[in-house]
Amino acid sequence: MGSYLPPPGTADGRFAPSPTGPLHLGNLRTALLAWLFARSARGASYLRMEDLDAARVRPGAATGQLEDLHALGLDWDGPVLHQAHRLDLYRDAIGRLEAAGLVYPCYCSRAEIRAAVSAPHKSAPAYPGTCRELSRAQRTERARGGRPPALRFRADSATVAFDDALLGRCAEIVDDFVVRRGDGAPAYNLAVVVDDAAQGVGQVVRGADLVETTPRQLVLARALGLPEPAFAHVPILHGPDGRRLAKRHGAVTLAERRERGESPAEVRSWLAASVGLAEPGDAADTAGLLARFKPERLSGCATRLGFEELTPAAA
Ligand code: GLU
Repeated sequence: MGSYLPPPGTADGRFAPSPTGPLHLGNLRTALLAWLFARSARGASYLRMEDLDAARVRPGAATGQLEDLHALGLDWDGPVLHQAHRLDLYRDAIGRLEAAGLVYPCYCSRAEIRAAVSAPHKSAPAYPGTCRELSRAQRTERARGGRPPALRFRADSATVAFDDALLGRCAEIVDDFVVRRGDGAPAYNLAVVVDDAAQGVGQVVRGADLVETTPRQLVLARALGLPEPAFAHVPILHGPDGRRLAKRHGAVTLAERRERGESPAEVRSWLAASVGLAEPGDAADTAGLLARFKPERLSGCATRLGFEELTPAAA
């Protein structure tokens, strides 16, 4: 792969956690990488709390996440942005899509709609188009069922391709996806696109488990006339079972690593080494990492952790 450098003025980046609990090692590694991508190219680095799904937000989680990021030596420009405070912006964007005839009400089951918004990592099943061509009479009939409709974007199964800084050329068929849930909450894809543009984010650095969401976001950015950022989907961490790292895998948070006797600096060094940015066992401070950072040095594979590495400290 050639050397990757974003064009001047487009290096601003962000880390956008969901405050649903403490960050785990995988989230922390993504945060470190997002910060390195932005700062090494002299871009700003923003932090955004993706707290639209009130049912999943945990009180105090955002503060705890900020403390952990700080403990790793990461800093952020400007105030932390909270999506829950920006509902007007999302409403405006949805209104523009409605005015352009690009969305339609969808009366399909809530379970399917929730899967599309609250679990951005799972690829939602392709929407079969059930509500796409309903007549006015059919809509009235479906509305009588009582369930408020979601709004779906009319994507017409377009194939959307983009060049990822780490994964190369990626392409996906985009089915009609939800931009507003039945309960009125804006969907993840809509909010991300609006916020990345509003914050002037030029490069989106996030876990490779989210790569499937990118074509949808590009379709939305185009429909809303917003600039398209560059993308770098970074490798994610896996537990011993080969699944995406999660709380259930053991000692995965900074607090749990501390209980095992590891300092935040040691965790940072381990995170850097796990992705090829430092030698195992070397102390890797942020200044040193920044000075040496080159995206093409990242090892592209997901890291699988062993049982011993995740065993909690004895009580
Ligand atoms: N909020 C998402 C997450 O915590 C990340 C969204 C993004 O980076 O676009 O997985």
